[in-house]
Amino acid sequence: MRKTIVAGNWKMNASKETVNTLILGILAGMDDVKSEVVVCAPFPYLSQVEALITHSQLKLGAQSLNINADGAFTGEVSAEMIKDFGAQYVIVGHSERRSLYGENSTLVAEKVKAALDNDLTPLFCVGETLEQREAGATEAVVSEQINAVIDLLGIDAFLGIVVAYEPVWAIGTGVTATPEQAQGVHAFIRQLLAGYDDGIADMTAILYGGSMNAGNANELIACEDIDGGLIGGASLKAEDFLQICRVG
Ligand code: PEP
Repeated sequence: MRKTIVAGNWKMNASKETVNTLILGILAGMDDVKSEVVVCAPFPYLSQVEALITHSQLKLGAQSLNINADGAFTGEVSAEMIKDFGAQYVIVGHSERRSLYGENSTLVAEKVKAALDNDLTPLFCVGETLEQREAGATEAVVSEQINAVIDLLGIDAFLGIVVAYEPVWAIGTGVTATPEQAQGVHAFIRQLLAGYDDGIADMTAILYGGSMNAGNANELIACEDIDGGLIGGASLKAEDFLQICRVG
């Protein structure tokens, strides 16, 4: 039985004041939440969130990492640093990193490795653009992204990875994949993993991301192969986020 995971990706949205309000609001409503709940904060706020969530069931994540342990990489943050602030998760391969910062599947796979080497769970994002979907290339795109990780690390790495299927056309657009569209790709991802190892495929959590909100989370997470959500916009308001967390 896979556990439901709901992870909030705040992206570059935070201030000391909003972080305080948001975390205290989430904590106040966690009593009836059974899912694993993660908040992925911008780097400068990791310390603040770490302090606020001590002794709670809320988990901390970062939004990216550098593959190097330390050294002359101005502006970058390593897995060790993220761990130092109590984070257990890190988003890797988000489409905004792939499209805006030129992160290709080879680098993304190396980032997955750096996370795993440091006992961080990568929230490993895959997904196609609208153009790719319309060209019938969704499965080819997702396969290439996943196979880059399998090629570098082998299928066993998926014992420590959470996959997030995030169709690029649904991220931040208010357009959500239908449950049928999402379930179709989730089932495809699970079959792809099963081609290497049935047991690992069955255990791997695959989250959906792309304009998930309190209104559509139920029917998406009810799908057989959808094990939770990676939430952008709707993770910035405690009550909206909690409603999604309560689905699982
Ligand atoms: C995301 O950025 O991972 C995301 C899913 O964003 P949104 O929920 O706003 O579409």
